Amino acid sequence: MARVLVLATRNAKKRREIEEILGDLDLELRDLSQFPDAPEVAEDGVTFEANARKKAAVTALALREWTLGEDSGLVVPALSGRPGVHSARYAGKQGDDAANNARLIAELAPLPADRRAAFYVCTAALADPHGQVRAVVDGRCHGVIILEKRGAAGFGYDPYFLILEYHKTFGELSPHVKHALSHRARALAKLRPILRSLLMAS
Ligand code: IMP
Repeated sequence: MARVLVLATRNAKKRREIEEILGDLDLELRDLSQFPDAPEVAEDGVTFEANARKKAAVTALALREWTLGEDSGLVVPALSGRPGVHSARYAGKQGDDAANNARLIAELAPLPADRRAAFYVCTAALADPHGQVRAVVDGRCHGVIILEKRGAAGFGYDPYFLILEYHKTFGELSPHVKHALSHRARALAKLRPILRSLLMAS
């Protein structure tokens, strides 16, 4: 019988991406909507890794299940690394993509394109049912922030995140292409062999 892996996120679009990337593995992926009593984990770490570890460990211990905690965000060097770990609540309200994008674009509008370089970061932590973190992986994806929204695919900052090689934003590229290039796909590619050896061997 396939082992259960809980995805410790309440962001439905992020959860769907993780499912699309890992869905071929012989694992039963479950999300927090199936665990109404799962604790709300405060993302108060100062690094992506601290938040990913906390989401994984706290959720795994509460549910007594193998758990994947993922923390991700957008880093803009010209903004001293902002929005960074505050990406989901950059304009104040958690998960308000439109307001977050409006703040980002207002801050970057005065800058020329070559100063609008940005990268996404994804850190994923795997915790065992005792709440011990057994692996941490990360991935990055580089692009440029454009000032006019393009496309409606993806989520978050995607309609403004231009992939130079494709001349398209993640809002315009298909999920198939995003999953070949993205920070999340790169991090989870590193996790695959670890999942195979820790959860699928026995
Ligand atoms: P988290 O739930 O704290 O990890 O929040 C991640 C936030 O970073 C999201 O709400 C988005 O604002 C941003 N983000 C992370 N990954 C992506 C992505 O693949 N596309 C667009 N925005 C992303």
